Amino acid sequence: MDFHDTPEEATFRSEVRTFIEGNLPRDWARLNQGPAFAEEATDDPEREAFLKQWRKALSGRGWVAPHWPREYGGAGMSPGEQFIYNEEMAKHRAPAVGGSGVGMLGPTLILYGTDEQKKEHLPGITSGEISWAQGYSEPGSGSDLASLQTRAVRDGDDYVVNGQKIWSSGAHRADWMFMLARTDPDAPKHRGISMLLVPMKAPGISVQPLVDMAGDHVFNQEYFDDVRVPVKNRVGEENRGWYVGATLLDFERSNIGASINLRNTVDDITRFAYEASRSGSVPVRLDGRTKVELADRAVEADIARLFSYRIISLQKRGQVPNYEASVNKMFRSETDQRLAQTGMKILNMYGNALRDERFAPMKSRISHMYLRTVASTIAAGTSEIQRNVIATRGLGLPRG
Ligand SMILES: Cc1cc2nc3c(=O)[nH]c(=O)nc-3n(C[C@H](O)[C@H](O)[C@H](O)COP(=O)(O)OP(=O)(O)OC[C@H]3O[C@@H](n4cnc5c(N)ncnc54)[C@H](O)[C@@H]3O)c2cc1C
Repeated sequence: MDFHDTPEEATFRSEVRTFIEGNLPRDWARLNQGPAFAEEATDDPEREAFLKQWRKALSGRGWVAPHWPREYGGAGMSPGEQFIYNEEMAKHRAPAVGGSGVGMLGPTLILYGTDEQKKEHLPGITSGEISWAQGYSEPGSGSDLASLQTRAVRDGDDYVVNGQKIWSSGAHRADWMFMLARTDPDAPKHRGISMLLVPMKAPGISVQPLVDMAGDHVFNQEYFDDVRVPVKNRVGEENRGWYVGATLLDFERSNIGASINLRNTVDDITRFAYEASRSGSVPVRLDGRTKVELADRAVEADIARLFSYRIISLQKRGQVPNYEASVNKMFRSETDQRLAQTGMKILNMYGNALRDERFAPMKSRISHMYLRTVASTIAAGTSEIQRNVIATRGLGLPRG
């Protein structure tokens, strides 16, 4: 593949850079320190105020949902433009916005939603005002999602929903949830599921926090007790929800942003380690062995970037990446874990300080990363499932 921008791509890249330089404060890195670097977990009023302004600036250009068509409030970017957009945002460490409303629900509604659903829900997503949670997983259904048990029973103009969802990221802050529920228990498991849009304030929903081992509240579990959901809130046909929900519509599957974040973190740890070792502020371990590990991580971050380029080159040729996206996700999430381990080795005993800022180097970013990246190889399809995909679809091996 040709790594150079075409003249049009170069013009677009400089447009994105100019926008970022004009809208992202120079001291954004200061606000973006610490463990709560995900949009979902902010409690700092200064940071919250900035994020609001940032969302507004993006929304004015359709850049909250860059890949959506313009008629729905997006920017209609081609895969190539979206790649450049995400690459520049990540290089400048700009905060991500949008969440699952932009990445998953919006594109699903654009394809399968009624005009009324599009009118009601899409503007709130592109303005960044309404946030969505994904209600797919259940205690007994994750990798084998089609076995889900939450029931939706038709009663007049409503469905009555009973059951439980779990691991729903950001559901405690979300205004709405898109969920999969079983509408025909007698049909084969993939054929008895429907997708419903449920306001989180509907009577009968209770949300319980699940605090992860880093002490952060990102996940939740929800109980549905006779929750009435109007039939007009169903997306697509009844019992066809599996096909609606399983359509992967976030076409940006290269995840270039994540591979650049990896490289940024390698650079941050390296810088910190050298400064601390020079000044003696923290007794870091910076010997031949940890230096080699840092070099390995830098190479791996660059390989992750090349995997992203592979995917975008397929998309530019009009092909849909398949097992290549699994290779990318698996390698990146496992590199995330290796990088966190390298960081912890370098920080020595200080890596254990999670909360006390006097002792927590890099504001405990690495300690949090170490704890939170355990989940990276589970979220969005476990490494075992990715390996199954690579084995069967990529290598053509028979199913086990
Ligand atoms: C950070 C994070 C965020 C998440 N956010 C959301 C969210 O917003 N909404 C939502 O609905 N869900 C969310 N999830 C849930 C996520 O989708 C599930 O955790 C994931 O699909 C795995 O399902 P499970 O936890 O039930 O594990 P299981 O499916 O029970 O898997 C247990 C173990 O068995 C292995 N295994 C299972 N099947 C196979 C197989 N066929 N071959 C080989 N090994 C297998 C798995 O790899 C794993 O090691 C989130 C999870 C995480 C970690």
